[in-house]
Amino acid sequence: MGKSKRWVLLLLLMTLMLMPFGALRAEERLRVVATTTQAADLARIIGGERIALTALMGAGVDPHLYKPTESDIAAMNSAQVVIYSGLNLEGQFETVFAALGQRAIRTYALSAPVADAGFLLEEEVGVPDPHFWFDPRNWALAAEGLAAVLAESDAANADFYRANAATYTAQLEALYDWGLAAMTDAAIPEEKRVLVTSHDAFQYFGDAFGWQVRGIQGISTAAEASVADIQAVADLVVSEGISVIFVESSVPRATIESVVAAAQAQGASVKVGVRELYSDAMGAPEDFGGSYMGMITHNIITILHSFGYPVPPLPESLGLALPEELQGR
Ligand SMILES: [Zn+2]
Repeated sequence: MGKSKRWVLLLLLMTLMLMPFGALRAEERLRVVATTTQAADLARIIGGERIALTALMGAGVDPHLYKPTESDIAAMNSAQVVIYSGLNLEGQFETVFAALGQRAIRTYALSAPVADAGFLLEEEVGVPDPHFWFDPRNWALAAEGLAAVLAESDAANADFYRANAATYTAQLEALYDWGLAAMTDAAIPEEKRVLVTSHDAFQYFGDAFGWQVRGIQGISTAAEASVADIQAVADLVVSEGISVIFVESSVPRATIESVVAAAQAQGASVKVGVRELYSDAMGAPEDFGGSYMGMITHNIITILHSFGYPVPPLPESLGLALPEELQGR
């Protein structure tokens, strides 16, 4: 046997010896599936490299309308924990969740601890608004809840999950304090604190940061905005002298543009915000708005920029580097 052949054999043998260990190690990690971009972000932060995470929805995807694909269902079926937002946000997942419930797969709604704490807002009597994550105080509850679930499912790493949740909730608190101070700055008259967007995703956001919120569509994007809805919001924009209204990244622009046109037809000077707001989906992972922290920060700065209000410096503890478009002014 030639020298080179022996090397090849040795390499092959080494690879074969390593393979089972590699495979085992991957299987040892807790298999977690997350539905929305926010849920996946939280799972990455709390679970880190100790979990094997599959994220189902991508950037800009509307979770109200998203239907699980065959590969999504396969991923959920072989998961140990499935994390979702809940309150019927993932409207097309009901049957899948029900089926998972029949098996030994743990499903966890991140909204559960928020509901338990009594912090849910209602869209109408008896119908909770699913967009709870927009209040960082709610998201901190979700972080703690998720850490508890991961700790239960993977006791060996319980301390790791809990420590990550503790670090993250401290950051969420800093984010909330900064955002509240920024959005209720003395430069912003209280009657001017009105946020108009295409669907009712921002009630919790407004509640957290001291702004009133008007959406054109209801809490779900499943129903198309009617001509009457558009006219009603246009009338409001005119009568309250609202100067900026916003487009959401996961909802088509057309609705907001119709409102602008209808308000301008009545002689109002109203424009669309300088950038889109993230609502039900975050940005791509490589974007600044591709994390929860980045998304909230992006939205707050975008609102302040659009109205021409000052932006206070971000606390360093957040560890966020602002992209150029969000700096200055
Ligand atoms: Zn929504």
